[in-house]
Amino acid sequence: MNEIFLLKLGEIVLKGQNRRTFEDKLRQNVRRRMARFGNFKVYIMQSTVYVEPQDDACDLDGAWDACGVIFGVSSMCRCRACEKNLDAIFETVVSYLGDELSVSRSFKVESKRSDKQFPLNSIQISQQIGGRLAEAFAHVAVDVHNPDYIVNIEVRDHAAYIHGPATPGAGGLPTGTGGRAAVLLSGGIDSPVAGYMIAKRGVELECIHFFSYPYTSELAKQKVIDLARIMTHYCGRMTLDIVGFTEIQEAIRDNCKEEYFTIIMRRFMMRIAERIGLDHGAKCLVTGENLGQVASQTMDAMAVTGAVVNVPIFHPLIGMDKEEIVTIARKIGTMETSILPYEDCCTVFTPKHPKTKPVLALVEAEEVKLDVEALIARAIENTEKVAIRFDDDV
Ligand code: ATP
Ligand code: MG
Repeated sequence: MNEIFLLKLGEIVLKGQNRRTFEDKLRQNVRRRMARFGNFKVYIMQSTVYVEPQDDACDLDGAWDACGVIFGVSSMCRCRACEKNLDAIFETVVSYLGDELSVSRSFKVESKRSDKQFPLNSIQISQQIGGRLAEAFAHVAVDVHNPDYIVNIEVRDHAAYIHGPATPGAGGLPTGTGGRAAVLLSGGIDSPVAGYMIAKRGVELECIHFFSYPYTSELAKQKVIDLARIMTHYCGRMTLDIVGFTEIQEAIRDNCKEEYFTIIMRRFMMRIAERIGLDHGAKCLVTGENLGQVASQTMDAMAVTGAVVNVPIFHPLIGMDKEEIVTIARKIGTMETSILPYEDCCTVFTPKHPKTKPVLALVEAEEVKLDVEALIARAIENTEKVAIRFDDDV
């Protein structure tokens, strides 16, 4: 019999009445992700997604890797199914896990019995199979406290499933169950990680990038497109709105006091992102801001920046250290692209002494010098929409 995958549900199992909606979404997501790897049957039973290849043409390794980035899955087991009797279970353990077992120093058997009709309980299954394995692999010690290798047996409704150690899944909640967010995506390290964190909670993304040509180059723009594409591996296809920001930045430079350049610029970003986001059905904004990282990321500065919009602004990285953020950036594969040395519009016209404790009324007094609405309208008009497809979408 072929290998099959069991994907264990994460927090979905805690959902009450909504559980069905979450499970349906997850099943759809897994089905869509598996489609390019061949003909798989995907269904949910007993808090588990079953992914069963239907023929030999299925690319099992590709499918397994793809399962690892599906939100809503807490752990995954690659197993072999067999009949529900001790002889079949023992033979399957030997043929499927024998190689790994024989190179281990010690082992133990862990069993779960969700089919309560099965005549032996889980302890008895473990004892019986453990005893037979101890004879067959006499050089491998039995160690129930600190084993080198664990043989897992799950006796479920239709079959018994045999597997080695489980692999962690992507965690979170199924994509599409948490609404849509507009992520302010720069080319830096932080904002792609912020997008990933919010996507992990089941949220679909729309990304917005502010682009100040010629102060920032075509290469900087390409970098952001590349980052968005990497993010689709986790959150699925999205639209990236690239907003022409040059006119606004020049207007701020020409009319406002230097120490307010950054904060006023960031208030424009929020206003524009809110409007574009709402157009795409996004109900919140997400940034990569992180408390105390730079002058614009103090509590006072963030309050003044956020005061211009009505939707909530989420900052998933707010309490993280840079090292923690970098670890996630490496895990999700955005780090290498993020550190390519292209400029961002935030580094254009940076004040020498930015206000770390701006006062809202004074910032608003500076903005009176600008035709805010007209600038916003022209910037939105001057937006390029790029459809970012997941490479593997079929
Ligand atoms: P990042 O690494 O994400 O660029 P950062 O630490 O460099 O963040 P800033 O440059 O101050 O911090 O930007 C703070 C946040 O503002 C970013 O995380 C991002 O969400 C948003 N942002 C900054 N520049 C842009 C841009 N050009 N387009 C869209 N959003 C931006
Ligand atoms: Mg930046």
